[in-house]
Amino acid sequence: MGPDPKAGFRPPLLNRIGVDSLFSFSGRDSGASPGDDPDAALNALRTVFGYASFRGQQADIIDHVVRGGDALVLMPTGGGKSLCYQIPALVRDGVTVVVSPLIALMRDQVTAMRELGVRAAFLNSSLGAAEAREVERDMARGDIDLVYVAPERLVTPRFLELLDRTKLALFALDEAHCVSQWGHDFRPEYLQLSILHERHPDVPRIALTATADVQTRNEIKEKLGLTEARVFLSSFDRPNITYRVVPKKSERQQMLAFLNENHGEDAGIVYCMSRAKVEDTAAWLNAQGREALPYHAGLPASVREANQDRFIKSEGIVMVATVAFGMGIDKPNVRFVCHLDPPKSLEAYYQETGRAGRDGLPANAWMSYGMADVVMLRQMLEQSEAGDSHRRVERGKLEALLGYCETSGCRRQVLLNYFNETMAEPCGNCDTCLDPVASWDGTIAAQKALSAVYRTGQRYGAGHLIDVLLGNATEKVIQQAHDALKTFGVGKDLAKTEWQSVYRQLVANGFLTVDLEGYGGFRLTDAGVAVIKGQRSVSLRKDPVQERRRGVHDALRRQTGRGGAGSGGSSSSGTRTSLSAADDALWHALRDCRTGLAKEQGVPPYVIFHDSTLLEMVHQRPLTPDAFARLPGVGSRKLERYAAAFLDVIHEHG
Ligand code: ADP
Ligand code: ZN
Repeated sequence: MGPDPKAGFRPPLLNRIGVDSLFSFSGRDSGASPGDDPDAALNALRTVFGYASFRGQQADIIDHVVRGGDALVLMPTGGGKSLCYQIPALVRDGVTVVVSPLIALMRDQVTAMRELGVRAAFLNSSLGAAEAREVERDMARGDIDLVYVAPERLVTPRFLELLDRTKLALFALDEAHCVSQWGHDFRPEYLQLSILHERHPDVPRIALTATADVQTRNEIKEKLGLTEARVFLSSFDRPNITYRVVPKKSERQQMLAFLNENHGEDAGIVYCMSRAKVEDTAAWLNAQGREALPYHAGLPASVREANQDRFIKSEGIVMVATVAFGMGIDKPNVRFVCHLDPPKSLEAYYQETGRAGRDGLPANAWMSYGMADVVMLRQMLEQSEAGDSHRRVERGKLEALLGYCETSGCRRQVLLNYFNETMAEPCGNCDTCLDPVASWDGTIAAQKALSAVYRTGQRYGAGHLIDVLLGNATEKVIQQAHDALKTFGVGKDLAKTEWQSVYRQLVANGFLTVDLEGYGGFRLTDAGVAVIKGQRSVSLRKDPVQERRRGVHDALRRQTGRGGAGSGGSSSSGTRTSLSAADDALWHALRDCRTGLAKEQGVPPYVIFHDSTLLEMVHQRPLTPDAFARLPGVGSRKLERYAAAFLDVIHEHG
């Protein structure tokens, strides 16, 4: 029998500040002004959220906002933006209004806040009139700390009038990039939010976004009237994500092997370009014994919602989706994001892969990429050849994407560089860093490949050209008399797959263009002609013959060496793959305990505890409430509600 954690136990800190069911960190009752207690924010972090210390710029941002300053916070996904307004909401006197664009997001945030014992609510179209009135009453009375509101409701006369009667602590504008007309998530209502400042000039504002795009940032400042706000810019690197691009052979099999090796029980997302491919891939994964669900805009809303809900509330489901899926998903333990087709741009890639590893534990971004993809991207590029500036921008984006896929350097350097961030050293956590890619002088091979294009009349794609180079007397070769060409059989020094790699790179690097009629016939560009004439040399990437597979465990070990983004300041946590058999049994038992509690309450499991907290339970094996209270992610409310259940499980596995 373990000790009864409810028997009058309180962590020392709680006794000191006298927290009961309500949290009060400011001088609310004493009439002191916010910011007077320098420890208030840290106390809130520890007692409510159960974290030991602030991360990155959180402390500075929170201090600035608590003192009444305006802030624009640019931080990547998983960086810890929410705390930047949630803690000021607890510390400052009055109600904090959080503007959030998506109902699902609001619901999840409010559920999580209530689990922490914070007085939070949302106002949106999913509430009945009576429920909404109740929230409004609580606001006017000051019986609530955080209210999440949809932008369209915020600017209604009724709500504006309610704000006039409410003591306001802070306006938080989440997903602030929604103000940008050029982004994917444009919400016209965001443009009206400057009205808040006009009506309440003394209430500080904090706008937050994970957009890495400089244009959008400037737009946010301007459109929200935040030109005077202090800007807090964090690095957009996501050190816990391992980036990989593999040459496509049989994409599904390659992906399945990768998942089996690294993510046997993990949840993740697989992106495909078309709805048909989404459905096929999901069905195929299920047939292979992997639980997978489809998601695309062509499915009935009820199916989409049900699938999303299952993905969020269960463990280990693979969501196969078009890009219609992802916005507003803040499931922290998405362990992998796979792309079976290339994304639209590097921005899109960053955003889509960014849904992995919000919790800071190791995660994988995996893309398969081959000749057909390059041809398709090139065709898109050719189509946008016309001169206007918008098309030039589109071209630049496609070139950047091709450059990322074909690089033999560090992928993270390419990615961050695209967002105007420089990384001095290669990252050590992408495929090219882990398994360095050799480059070779491909000038002669390129000359052979290009002259095969030229001599066959610039009409054929890679398949036929490679037959010519290899000297394969196929029916088509004979029919076209291509066996009589000087290039027939001159390429026997390389294997078929190597020639495929050569052609792919010649297309990707702009030595060949692709005709638009859809047959994918190659034509020489000026650069290609220069190579044939011996005026230019060509350096090529040697595609890895067989990609070496590495577990997430390896990624973690490397990561701890460079002080990665492990939660709670502890770097000893790993993912399941790094656990011994006994630890593994405990991990599963803890996860079952969490699932049971989550089901009872109808909430996602991660709202009870994040994986990182469960992993710390496995590593530390706390046996007393005191020890349990010290786990990252265990605040006073969760200690009170859940310590007993989880301590029982740990005792059983002692
Ligand atoms: P964002 O909104 O920037 O994507 P979140 O606010 O969801 O990020 O935070 C990402 C994860 O990091 C969450 O699991 C959160 O609980 C955790 N986290 C945030 N701040 C801290 C901190 N100071 N210490 C430990 N964990 C933190
Ligand atoms: Zn790298």
